[in-house]
Amino acid sequence: FFKQKTAYEIRPRDWSSDVCSSDLDTGAPARRGFALVVSPLISLMKDQVDGLRVDGVDAAYLNSTQTPDERDAVMASLRADRCRLLYVSPERLVGEGSQGFRRFLARCGVRFIAIDEAHCISQWGHDFRPEYRQLGQLRDDFPGASFHAFTATATERVRHDIVHELKLRDGLVLVGSFDRPNLTYRVLRRGTLRKQLETILARHEGESGIVYCGSRREVEELAEWLRGEGHEALPYHAGLPDEVRAAHQEAFLDERADIIVATVAFGMGIDRSNVRFVIHASAPRSPEHYQQEAGRAGRDGLPAECVLIYSGADFVRWRQMLEQNGEFTDSTKALLRDMERYAAGTRCRHRSLVEYFGEPWARGECGACDWCLKELDGVADSTTVARKILSCVARVRQNYGLAHVADVLIGKANDKVVALGHAELSTFGLLKSEPPAAVRGYIEQLVAGGWLAREGEPYPVLKLTPAGAALLKGEGECELYRELQPVKGKSRTRGQGSTVFEGDPELFDVLRAVRTKLARERGVPPYVIFHDTTLKHLAERRPATLDDLHDIYGVGAKKAADFGDAFLDAIRTHRKPL
Ligand code: ZN
Repeated sequence: FFKQKTAYEIRPRDWSSDVCSSDLDTGAPARRGFALVVSPLISLMKDQVDGLRVDGVDAAYLNSTQTPDERDAVMASLRADRCRLLYVSPERLVGEGSQGFRRFLARCGVRFIAIDEAHCISQWGHDFRPEYRQLGQLRDDFPGASFHAFTATATERVRHDIVHELKLRDGLVLVGSFDRPNLTYRVLRRGTLRKQLETILARHEGESGIVYCGSRREVEELAEWLRGEGHEALPYHAGLPDEVRAAHQEAFLDERADIIVATVAFGMGIDRSNVRFVIHASAPRSPEHYQQEAGRAGRDGLPAECVLIYSGADFVRWRQMLEQNGEFTDSTKALLRDMERYAAGTRCRHRSLVEYFGEPWARGECGACDWCLKELDGVADSTTVARKILSCVARVRQNYGLAHVADVLIGKANDKVVALGHAELSTFGLLKSEPPAAVRGYIEQLVAGGWLAREGEPYPVLKLTPAGAALLKGEGECELYRELQPVKGKSRTRGQGSTVFEGDPELFDVLRAVRTKLARERGVPPYVIFHDTTLKHLAERRPATLDDLHDIYGVGAKKAADFGDAFLDAIRTHRKPL
């Protein structure tokens, strides 16, 4: 399972030659066969296939967006053994009445089957799709094909499910690193959202990014506000007509729009490499969602920033939504709790995410999260503050929720507190000098750190965990922070990516224009021509000949032949800075 798989990585290297040799003995004309890629991302198939074709691979797709004529042409290329890689959706492959289609594919010689977004097969994954469960039957229809499953986000449990459900024989599980060192993670407690957004966007002038929101209404409002502020921002959500949505996605991919404001409906498989920031204006429903959505930043390996802006209300809203849809199961509940733990977490964000996916953390301080950059306002004497809170939880007999415990601690003599006699407790008003939001924040941090637990449905109450009981008795220490805001006056590090651009920025812009022109001519998104990293290398190294191009990152023989001259000309005619 590769962290950032692309269509290129799932292309098998030498399989066609292997297949040829085994068929030669029969005396029949050897079929080279093809690789079948099962992908739920119908809207992206065309781009993926276009990208492969630019790279010289005979690729095609079959889905419901095509006309019967277009589909016939693809079927003919399969019959004639001219297609090397075919994308199909799971519905087409295992849906009702698909048996004939599978028989047809088998006759055309399926050698290799790749299941993309394979986490969809597991109910412990974050995007369970029942039709994915039926993919296991492919094993019977294509006994000779090798099976491969790919996902960017799978915990150990999900990986086990994938192997099991797909009936992989003696499966080899490859886990890439979940660590994305070029991303800087920050978490903010939601205050005045627009002010918070302004601060973040000021760090990214002229750069592109995605803002995820919890509701369609919020998407529309924020997109409009951002346009008023002079940003090229477009909305994207499931309530927009298909053609508007497609047009907005395209504008973002073609770099005509800088910012997409979207609900989570946006971006499965989005492959724009120079996304410099991903902001969540509310919390997603699982760390998997967060990793996947935030992971759309910085795919070119250059520094990018991911900010989660959340409040406790986000989790209440998710809970209600899941309950309404009958999806509030043990697994979704656990994922939601894990997300809450990340948001209120009191340690390195990189480490939290990496360990969540079961990978050991080997680096020390990451140098690229709010926690390690020391942007958070640490609370003096945190352990004492924590003990006051834990003791209050004990005083109310571990029988009340977060809001009530916070009220007692700040000394709020409301009806409930008075009626229960909690205004008489020794812990009443122990933290009255602290802002109420800060006290609620400390309690969330103690939950996230495992000193307190929230238990019970539907009104969870606070309980001491064994670690919490020990801390209360004077064993151990803990660190709390006051507010999740970057400390004023600190340098705004834009990540610690190792790649620092040392070329001529004007030349880089010239090369971008060349890329845009080539992309428009071919009707493909710019990144299909070259990623930003490649353009940066070109601007730094200023290659003079086609031969020099071989040393440039991301330039293969086919691309050098197709696009080399256009870029070399631009470099030649651009005056070298003195
Ligand atoms: Zn860190």
